[in-house]
Amino acid sequence: MRILVTGGAGFIGSNFVHYVLGEHDDAEVVTLDALTYAGSRDNLEGVLDDPRHEFVRGDVRDQNLVTDLVADVDVVVNFAAESHVDRSIEGAKPFVSTNVQGTQTLLDAAKDAGIERFLQVSTDEVYGQVLDGKFAEDDPLNPRNPYAATKAGADLLAQSYETTHDLPVLVTRTCNNFGPRQHSEKLIPKFIQNAAAGEPLPLYGDGSNVREWLYVEDNCRALDLVLRDGKVGEVYNIGSHDEKTNLEVTETILDAVGASDELIEFVEDRAGHDQRYALESEKIQSLGWKPSYSFEDALDSTVSYYLD
Ligand code: NAD
Repeated sequence: MRILVTGGAGFIGSNFVHYVLGEHDDAEVVTLDALTYAGSRDNLEGVLDDPRHEFVRGDVRDQNLVTDLVADVDVVVNFAAESHVDRSIEGAKPFVSTNVQGTQTLLDAAKDAGIERFLQVSTDEVYGQVLDGKFAEDDPLNPRNPYAATKAGADLLAQSYETTHDLPVLVTRTCNNFGPRQHSEKLIPKFIQNAAAGEPLPLYGDGSNVREWLYVEDNCRALDLVLRDGKVGEVYNIGSHDEKTNLEVTETILDAVGASDELIEFVEDRAGHDQRYALESEKIQSLGWKPSYSFEDALDSTVSYYLD
């Protein structure tokens, strides 16, 4: 299987590239990444010289480039995105451009090339917040920040190509990931690095916001399973059922690093901060997937990774 992985120099994309090349001898990967501030060639160290891997620096909105690359693969996995909610609140323009227009460019190229499968990597944030219960795949989307709104646009656009053009689209909506190769602007790497340096850990509001946390390798395994065995036209939630408040995550990090709780600094809450996300994940489990890492074990190894 020859796979075009967009955004493959970012956090989850690079872990996915490593995962599929390690897992499947017959896999070939073309990584397309613009290397924005969020992407890095270093994330692909170890596979850059692999004859089964090709790295292309380029933009998912570049129609000619994308048309050429898509024509030469069997499947597309679209990770490329502007991904940081805080940045989308400061300015939504690059989010609309990459997340929506970039996805449209890829979908058109995939339609023209007649590819076998198109996996759109979406997020639990498209559902908006849920105070009680969990979101199932057929629940309505109610995104509440610009990042989530552009991801919802891309998610629905991808599904519309399946309905309208018979493009073999699959969509995954994943909860919060953590693990190696994540940009230091995101909560877990930032807090590990601040704790190790004895600097304050700026925690939004009262730290009571709840997220479901999934180790990135477990997510890669789920994405690979959906790509190969998922049913075309379906949406798959990928959740760990491991819910933590941001305060609990922060305290666990401080504990693992051996730093004091006094480093916690409660700061003004993020505008429109969703209180809780939670996913029903029975559908992906019925494909034979469940997470294999506990939050605590995976956090320990993640802390070691960033401290190294
Ligand atoms: P990331 O920001 O670490 O990586 C994004 C990558 O996309 C970067 O390498 C960047 O250079 C690249 N990119 C950005 N704009 C591009 C463009 N115009 N053309 C080509 N490449 C471009 O993000 P991530 O955390 O790895 O997330 C990957 C995907 O998974 C995103 O679509 C995100 O919405 C989704 N997702 C992430 C999480 C999470 O917890 N991180 C959870 C659910 C879904």
